[in-house]
Amino acid sequence: MANQKLRRRENADGDFYVDSSCIDCATCRWMAPDVFNAQGGMSAVYRQPGNDAQRTAALRAVVACPTASIGVTEPASRAGLKHAAASFPHELADGVHQCGFHSESSFGAASYFIKHDDGNVLVDSPRFAAPLVKRIEQLGGIRWMFLTHRDDVADHAKWAAKFGCERIIMESDARGIEAETKLKGDDEYEIANGLTVIPTPGHTRGSACLLYDDKFLFTGDHLAWSQRLGHLYAFRSACWYDWDTVVESLKRLVSKRFEWVLPGHGWPLHADVAEVAHQMQQCVEWAESA
Ligand code: SF4
Repeated sequence: MANQKLRRRENADGDFYVDSSCIDCATCRWMAPDVFNAQGGMSAVYRQPGNDAQRTAALRAVVACPTASIGVTEPASRAGLKHAAASFPHELADGVHQCGFHSESSFGAASYFIKHDDGNVLVDSPRFAAPLVKRIEQLGGIRWMFLTHRDDVADHAKWAAKFGCERIIMESDARGIEAETKLKGDDEYEIANGLTVIPTPGHTRGSACLLYDDKFLFTGDHLAWSQRLGHLYAFRSACWYDWDTVVESLKRLVSKRFEWVLPGHGWPLHADVAEVAHQMQQCVEWAESA
């Protein structure tokens, strides 16, 4: 839990606050945008929750925060945290869930859980936190863990030891990671029915996306939605391998069909297929001149 003595003065008065240990991962801002914003290089509460939906989102952000930098002062909110923790993994649609419990070792990256008929999938690694482990066990455990790239692997070894899952990552990002399956080359790879790995190098040499059911695209740090630009974009200032390769990998996604973009870092996007396709075109044009 956050430390009231470190409460940032930028916070609005009231129950919820951010303290000065915030690492500016932005998780709380996309999870509860009616409550948190960026101020002075960190997050802060700009408006206290005004209804149940905003309160629920803010409590989930408390649980997701990788550094326990968000606090609450009211007993009712403290009591609500247990319920918020138990709400993860939180279903977005069609068996696709947000895991919450972001890890500081992944700089607060989001991870996802897919309930799948052939076996469940964890996309990138959340914190190995007891409430989440218990819920995932109740949902049938994990058969595959797909790691989008080397940065967001967090507690992958603990999850693999607990559930005996097969870890899948591109070989060129696998140094120091004991993955069971290391993929090579540029070819797509089908994990199971409707689950396709698409190599998208650039952010790192071995970055890859996972397309599920022609509807959900899990993108790691390759692609996210930009609040500032108003369309999909890639991380120009956090490109660790090669920007021209990022652009080519973005072009590869233009012909794909999906409605959801679920990134590790940055804002997710959910829109109809035509709108997402339009934004992919905008993204490529923007990236070619960035
Ligand atoms: S989730 Fe936590 S670390 Fe991340 S921006 Fe919010 S307060 Fe800071």
